[in-house]
Amino acid sequence: MISLDFVLLLVFNIFIIIFSLFIFQLFVYETVFDRKRKSFILLLLCTIVMLLCIIYPIKLYNEDFIFDLRQIPLIIAILYGGRRIGVTLFVILVIFRTYLGGLGAIVSFFENGTLLLFLTYSINYFRNVSINKKLIFISLTSILTCILPIVYYFLIVGTKGYLDFMIIQFYLFILQSLILLLSIYFIEVMISNKKLRDKLVQSEKTEMISHLAASISHEIRNPLTVAKGFVQLIKELGSEDPDREEYFRHALDELDRANSIITNYLSYAKPSIEKTQLFDVNEQLKSIVDIIKPYANLYSVVVLNKSESKFDIKGDSDKFKQIFINIIKNSIEAMKTGGILTIETLVNDNIINIIIKDIGQGMTNEQIRRLGQPYFSTKEKGTGLGLMVAYSLVKVMNGTIRVESQLNLGTTFIVSFPNNIN
Ligand code: ADP
Ligand code: MG
Repeated sequence: MISLDFVLLLVFNIFIIIFSLFIFQLFVYETVFDRKRKSFILLLLCTIVMLLCIIYPIKLYNEDFIFDLRQIPLIIAILYGGRRIGVTLFVILVIFRTYLGGLGAIVSFFENGTLLLFLTYSINYFRNVSINKKLIFISLTSILTCILPIVYYFLIVGTKGYLDFMIIQFYLFILQSLILLLSIYFIEVMISNKKLRDKLVQSEKTEMISHLAASISHEIRNPLTVAKGFVQLIKELGSEDPDREEYFRHALDELDRANSIITNYLSYAKPSIEKTQLFDVNEQLKSIVDIIKPYANLYSVVVLNKSESKFDIKGDSDKFKQIFINIIKNSIEAMKTGGILTIETLVNDNIINIIIKDIGQGMTNEQIRRLGQPYFSTKEKGTGLGLMVAYSLVKVMNGTIRVESQLNLGTTFIVSFPNNIN
């Protein structure tokens, strides 16, 4: 007979496993934590889930044997966290299970030890196959987790109570396989969603780069023409002329300017590897202004960068650039007949506010509401992806975006991030 206790414990076990997956996705996986911190939290979560599973087991066979879903966090930790996390979790399991005592502890040691060996040697295979093959692999692993304890029980305990043990083990196997398959499927969907979003961010950036390219090449021509003029002058001057020195300096300055425009642009355009670090907001804003200035000139827009003091925030500086280039580009495009674009940073209560203000066409309330939705664009050749990407990147960096706008008067974007200096 299935008792109420049994059902409650079963539901509880399933709940903590699924719940921890959600926690991991919401608060860890999609954030700017670095790899080390993510691995640590994965280990911590798996440890908690594993211990809870053991403390509230689904069924106690006798004092010696405990049946629960502890192997699910163990398997997930090894396959997704890697060898080191797997071994650590195994050691914690062995210590805790030995502390609880009984013959079952010995069976558990050999059983999970074998599982650990099998999985650590399969990590590379597992990580490189399609989701369908992963699910097949997991089913095979489940069969292994069913057979292993039966074999070790026979070797260590003998045939006493063997049949009962096998029957319970079989039910546990079916239960565990189902929940494990569900969990792996959830994790895979979570990973592929993130990959998809990263791809979108990347392709949107490529689009942005091609937009800016025209203005950059146009902008490069000016300093080159000026430098060429000075070089010609120098050529015509006598070698003793006192002005020579000055002309040389002008020519070099112009070449430097051309160089810095190209360098900035290329540093933005190059594909980047994801890196989370503390970076100085104003340094980044300066380089963003350098990249966007040629585009502003094209629209007769003057860019005033009023931000100065040093503030640090944590994240990927390339993504940070992408956010603000997308926002600023829109502001420039909103001022079709020219105007002033102001960039300011304000800090209060550990929050850094970066304010982008234009005096352009503004938006209706309905338009403001739709900002950040994919494909929302009022432009003839707009993609409607720029702000969607900006919003999602800001969210990943734990920031928020606020928009104030009035039709025909202008728009202000206020992007806020937690200040990491304190
Ligand atoms: P796109 O620039 O390709 O149209 P975005 O996602 O960058 O796509 O912007 C979406 C829409 O939001 C724009 O088409 C525009 O209508 C509106 N918008 C964004 N920023 C501003 C702004 N500063 N002033 C007025 N409208 C804006
Ligand atoms: Mg845009």
